[in-house]
Amino acid sequence: MSASPFPDRPTGPGRTVPTTVTVTGAAGQIGYATVFRAAAGDLLGPDTPIRLHLLELPAARRAAEGTALELQDGAFPLLHGVEVFEDADAAFDGASVGLLIGARPRAQGMERADLLEANAGIFSVQGRAVNRGAAEDFRAVVVGNPANTNAYLAASHAPDVPRERFTALTRLDHHRAVAQLAAAADALVGEVDGVAVWGNHSASQYPDLTHATVGGRPALEVLAERDLGLEWVDSTFIPRVARRGAEIIDVRGGSSVASAAHAALCHVRDWVLGTPGAAWTSMGVPSDGSYGVPEGLVSSFPVTCRDGRARIVPGLELDRFSGSRIEASVRELEEERAAVQQLGLLGPRR
Ligand code: NDP
Repeated sequence: MSASPFPDRPTGPGRTVPTTVTVTGAAGQIGYATVFRAAAGDLLGPDTPIRLHLLELPAARRAAEGTALELQDGAFPLLHGVEVFEDADAAFDGASVGLLIGARPRAQGMERADLLEANAGIFSVQGRAVNRGAAEDFRAVVVGNPANTNAYLAASHAPDVPRERFTALTRLDHHRAVAQLAAAADALVGEVDGVAVWGNHSASQYPDLTHATVGGRPALEVLAERDLGLEWVDSTFIPRVARRGAEIIDVRGGSSVASAAHAALCHVRDWVLGTPGAAWTSMGVPSDGSYGVPEGLVSSFPVTCRDGRARIVPGLELDRFSGSRIEASVRELEEERAAVQQLGLLGPRR
């Protein structure tokens, strides 16, 4: 643990105890783009002071310490402290929110099993640390890929923490789908609702417009009036959303960073503070068995959030096309789960 640039302050009249937020991979690109906005109130709202715990690998510790100095220089009124850790137990001690961003990237020549195994090492340690010392209201969003399976794995190592507190980020996919629909319909993003992203945060994901509305009208009807029929949805919209990450790399020369950070902040903020009105968002959450997704599998669903709980939107009609797309993505999730199981990487909770 490094010396914090923030002195410890007593709590007392007029002071609120800060909420501890643990950010892993805090010196990485997405981590760096996330922590300043979290300190500015974009994570838990303008009334909740936070204390940041930055977890990093030894090689990136100095960079994280530099980030802590910059956070101090931000003079954020809501930021009551920053500490840098290499040890997961210390980093998650007392944490209420986990932004699990750090992960092992796929290196050239790496097989999928190698990637799952490398990340399982990271997420099992963090799951155990959460189980040992996190606050009772702990909740986490996993950003590091493969995000869904990493969330499943971390939860398996934290049997005393409710399973639904480990979620995976599919909010960036959701935002991409909303923005693409708005552009195609020549509408404002704020006029779009009812978009859903199902399945894995991978190319197999299914961004679904069948229940979406634009200005209160069915999106598919609005698109059809612009000569954008189901063929456009199938051959242009879905692949564009699912492969947007690759498009960003191609055009920008690097992977999505600020948009991923924004999505992670929105994911947690809506989870804690609630989705507005009846609006949907998409989150990777453990399945309750809805829509044929095996119970416990961390899959993206349309959800609404109230009182700190994300609820899968119930009772949606799925046409045959949607059913088969969801099934294909869920099959991939089951394969990932089987792979970590075969490697003996799951914790005591299955
Ligand atoms: P980034 O900050 O760019 O990405 C972090 C993770 O987010 C990657 O797994 C990346 O997956 C994933 N990700 C999820 N969604 C997206 C998206 N839509 N666009 C882009 N990325 C997405 O990686 P960096 O290499 O800059 O930083 C990683 C940091 O994590 C390093 O500082 C490293 O030291 C740290 N680390 C910390 C650990 C710990 O705290 N125990 C463990 C491992 C690493 P993908 O690679 O598939 O794009």
